[in-house]
Amino acid sequence: MDKTHLLSDQDEPKYDHPALANTATGQWKGSGLEATAPPPEEIPAVPGYENLGPGYHDVPPPPVGFQHPQPPAASPNRQWDIPAISEDLAREAFVEYASSSCCYSKKPPKEMVLTDLQALNTYRYRLETFTETRSTEWASEPYNGQLVDGMNGVAPGPWDITVSVPALFQDSETGVRIPHTASIKGCHSCLNLGKSACNRCVTSGRIQCERCNGLGFNTDQQRCNRCQGVGRVKCRDCSGVGSTPCNTCQGRGQLLCYIKLKIKWTNNIYVQVMDKRSGFPVDLLEFATGEVLLADMNALVYPVVSFPDESVNTASRKAIQEHQAQFSTSCRVLQQRQTIELIPVTRVHYAWKEKTHIFFVYGAEHNVFTKEYPAKCCCTIS
Ligand SMILES: [Zn+2]
Ligand SMILES: [Zn+2]
Ligand SMILES: [Zn+2]
Repeated sequence: MDKTHLLSDQDEPKYDHPALANTATGQWKGSGLEATAPPPEEIPAVPGYENLGPGYHDVPPPPVGFQHPQPPAASPNRQWDIPAISEDLAREAFVEYASSSCCYSKKPPKEMVLTDLQALNTYRYRLETFTETRSTEWASEPYNGQLVDGMNGVAPGPWDITVSVPALFQDSETGVRIPHTASIKGCHSCLNLGKSACNRCVTSGRIQCERCNGLGFNTDQQRCNRCQGVGRVKCRDCSGVGSTPCNTCQGRGQLLCYIKLKIKWTNNIYVQVMDKRSGFPVDLLEFATGEVLLADMNALVYPVVSFPDESVNTASRKAIQEHQAQFSTSCRVLQQRQTIELIPVTRVHYAWKEKTHIFFVYGAEHNVFTKEYPAKCCCTIS
């Protein structure tokens, strides 16, 4: 590391140069995310960042040329559809369902006659687009002898800085100091003094004695032994000094000003469950457990084209188009993942007390859904 331009190289720098350090340790873990910007008139000019005013500025990534990946191959020999569940399983699920509410009679699951079981399996398509956005902001922190690198090189662009991704498909954010943007400024809060006047004692260092209310004597006319009859005691807030260390510069009198890069990782999710219009409310299937038929991960995924159910191909095309329009210019797409899951749904027809009814068993959990339970204690006499 070139230290010739350090203003103070006696002190150990508190952090490594982000551009030179391993990117994992280069991420600044100090008070960076809370640091405040210096007043506008104090902001120095940094080549490449001349127009950076107060506040955050989103920085769209430079356009990247990419090659379209190939569509994922949906294995042709695979049996996509699975048969309806067995009668025993349907009955078991319905018994469980009836016992979930005290209001439901236990008779229908015990006495029913199953007449038909129909497989109405459907698919859930999910696209995840993992993106990175970057923004820049002026920030400052107390100067403790950190590396001052504003003069010894050219500041890299916001997207030229390498920061490793903590975890794919998980939301997170971090702050990094941009190299070659740091300079030292006097503290604007305390006018470089490093201290501010104590509010409690108004710089006198002494406050009224609270035991004798400043009289010097107690009610029985004895000399106050707290203030020894003086009526005033040492100020606790400033220990009698009359001033307290400045909060902004933590008593240093100087601030390190720099441009902070804020990086945000977001997992954007698109989910669609294919509606088979079987009378089953498709919303219930959003969180039901299914069986993964296809999992495809790439820098950019290509729409599924060869899935036997055309509505899944359409959903994939629509999802990818939508995410591309939404994210391709405003942020950097780091990774995409698409999955197709088979969600088992069985429509069960049964007869009970000379009437026919329907319930559905869905998901790997064998959840039950029915619009009308035939024997509720509050509304039906059974
Ligand atoms: Zn200060
Ligand atoms: Zn004081
Ligand atoms: Zn006193």
